[in-house]
Amino acid sequence: MATNRTFTMIKPDATAAGHTGKIIDRIIGAGFTIKAMKWTQLSKEEAQAFYAVHAGRPFYRELVEYMSSAPIVAAILEKDNAVADFRDLIGATNPAEAAPGTIRADFAESIAANAVHGSDSDENALIEGKFHFSASDIA
Ligand code: UDP
Ligand code: MG
Repeated sequence: MATNRTFTMIKPDATAAGHTGKIIDRIIGAGFTIKAMKWTQLSKEEAQAFYAVHAGRPFYRELVEYMSSAPIVAAILEKDNAVADFRDLIGATNPAEAAPGTIRADFAESIAANAVHGSDSDENALIEGKFHFSASDIA
């Protein structure tokens, strides 16, 4: 059964380009409620750990460098069918293939610097949320 929470990060390309407010506005406008949110910067070690599932992929080293290169916004979001609906809102990994009107189509720079992260399953949403937040951070 689908749970009602997902996890997102607004990535370094988007925070550096000044797109943070517009992206948060899109997320709220699509019906998501913010349960926890913080502005932070990942250390290289934290980025390695967060993306450990991709260790060994050809893009892993570049991904870790990029994700630790500038601030991010991490957030836990709530909505019915949150994981799938958020993936629909952000669009395909490669912005060239992202549907018109999606966050990645409108704000991403490249397949690597693609503006936002969205969890790919309920299980990973829980793991990723716990990576950044403790229970007392959630309201
Ligand atoms: N990525 C990349 N090159 C690729 C595939 C992925 O740089 O060929 C980066 C990109 O930032 C992506 C992240 O690695 O968002 C995680 O990849 P995943 O396949 O999980 O895509 P997502 O779930 O973010 O759409
Ligand atoms: Mg993914």
